[in-house]
Amino acid sequence: MEEALTKKVEIVVKGIPASPGIAIGPAFLFQKHAPTIFEKSIGEEETKREVERLEQAVARSQKELGKILEFAQQKLGDDTAKIFEAQLMILEDTVLFDSIYGRVRKELKNAEFVVEDEIGKYHRMMVASKDEYTRERANDVEDVRNRILRNLQEQKLISRLEGSSVIVSQNLTAADTLILSRNDVLAYATDIGGVTSHTALLARALKIPAVVGLRNISAIVHDADNIILDGYGGTVILNPSNETIKKYEAKRALYLEFEKKLAGLRELPAETLDGHRVELSANLEFEQELEFVHLQGADGIGLYRSEMLLIGKEVFPSEEEQFQQYKLIADTVYPKPVIIRTFDIGGDKFMAHPVKESNPFLGWRGIRVMLDRPELFLEQLRAILRASTRKNVSIMFPMVSNIKEVRNAKKLIEDAKRQLEAEHKPFDDKLKIGVMIEVPAAAVIAEDLAKEVSFLSIGTNDLIQYLIAVDRGNDVVADLYQEFHPAVIRFLRRIIERGQKSDVWVGMCGEMAGDPMATMLLLGLGLNEFSVVPNVLPEIKKIIRAVKYKEAKKLAKDVLALETEDEVKDYLRAVMKKKFPDIPIE
Ligand code: PEP
Ligand code: MG
Repeated sequence: MEEALTKKVEIVVKGIPASPGIAIGPAFLFQKHAPTIFEKSIGEEETKREVERLEQAVARSQKELGKILEFAQQKLGDDTAKIFEAQLMILEDTVLFDSIYGRVRKELKNAEFVVEDEIGKYHRMMVASKDEYTRERANDVEDVRNRILRNLQEQKLISRLEGSSVIVSQNLTAADTLILSRNDVLAYATDIGGVTSHTALLARALKIPAVVGLRNISAIVHDADNIILDGYGGTVILNPSNETIKKYEAKRALYLEFEKKLAGLRELPAETLDGHRVELSANLEFEQELEFVHLQGADGIGLYRSEMLLIGKEVFPSEEEQFQQYKLIADTVYPKPVIIRTFDIGGDKFMAHPVKESNPFLGWRGIRVMLDRPELFLEQLRAILRASTRKNVSIMFPMVSNIKEVRNAKKLIEDAKRQLEAEHKPFDDKLKIGVMIEVPAAAVIAEDLAKEVSFLSIGTNDLIQYLIAVDRGNDVVADLYQEFHPAVIRFLRRIIERGQKSDVWVGMCGEMAGDPMATMLLLGLGLNEFSVVPNVLPEIKKIIRAVKYKEAKKLAKDVLALETEDEVKDYLRAVMKKKFPDIPIE
């Protein structure tokens, strides 16, 4: 009876997998005390003292951040450490601090109140943004504000833990994540955050498993509760039973074994046993991921989603800003190639004030927007061309639905080239141009489009939603969004065959390219390039290197004859189980 009353129930919470690995251990609830700030009036004679107090708090914050930056540089390298440089830059922002000091003097208010109010304004704006990236960066601003406030109130920072633990928190700033990693951290679990959050980026760099976006995990976990965190599947299990623990220990052993086998793959080509070579590249959203992409052994970047520079912004970045960004990526990846996709804005990726449309996925999106704004398009094309001097850059157009769009876009590239020539600005005159095949109409005319360009890249994320008429983001019809629908597979065969008949290579940068269950099929259909999320790259390479092209072709032929998605999946699952029993698939 006693046992039954005290027995804790197992609770499973689903979140977003942010850094791979499985951890089992006690929770440590990391609670940050949001500073309580009161508005206080001060006398004029007190302003000097108040300003000094603020100056000291800012100086202490700079010193703390300087140390964190140094630690990050040593432990993670310059690229990842840039996060902390950005925070130091906020502390050095003279416009912001002139305004803060000015308000203390003029409004005769206490420093805490003015800091909270003034930095809080930026923070609130960023938090309210529709764009996930901007929302994530709001953490930096919040971190800087809280750091100053803590130093104003002369409080110490908690960063020491007893023993090893899974950190559970509502949110973790970049600095928290890093500072806590000096302890024996088994994993991180947070209520909020996406895959691009700093917790996620840093956890990956630190090789600590993490799951973010767990909604209310910090409210239901208590200190020292036993926890399992599965950074592959994005699950956290509270108070697991012995049976569950055993299951996850076995899963962890399986993965560790599997990862060991992947370790030696980085320098090896994605080539089948009978010598058929394909390109295995990575998709990239943010420059911070470049180091990881390199570590995973990518042949290059098959898709850089340049619109990430726009999301949530009021205005387009200038040509110069874009140029700096593209050049940084091209230089870092050099001598490997990078395909920069021109802005794919619209659909579900918006700037600060999106145009209201009743059906944005069928509306003003991708190349349609850019062709309607040739002055903005020209700026982007000039920036990409200017970043191409080392001859490792290609351009790709998204959401193409007819050949005229490609011809018009190519004309603009020619215009951009003539302008740059006149300005004596160098670029790669032979820069390659490609088209994404993600609208069924483009798939049907793939052979004609191929004559206009050097490569085609299949965007299955959109192609599937348009082909089957299922919104890719709608849970209600998620069952109908079928990667292995026979219509999808037959369509893919058509695109690949027609493209290659017109002498271009055909790649895929949609999520399907990174699904291990699809690898043999895509290989057998003749796909030339796979561009995948960096996490799965070694796994895909392992599969490619372990099969014969001949057998992949036979598999594709068999699968093309099947009539339902279930049949296709059963077939592929059976092959995987037999050939790759160590690869965890669903
Ligand atoms: C796609 O549609 O498959 C694709 C790669 O583009 P995005 O996911 O950015 O729409
Ligand atoms: Mg797309």
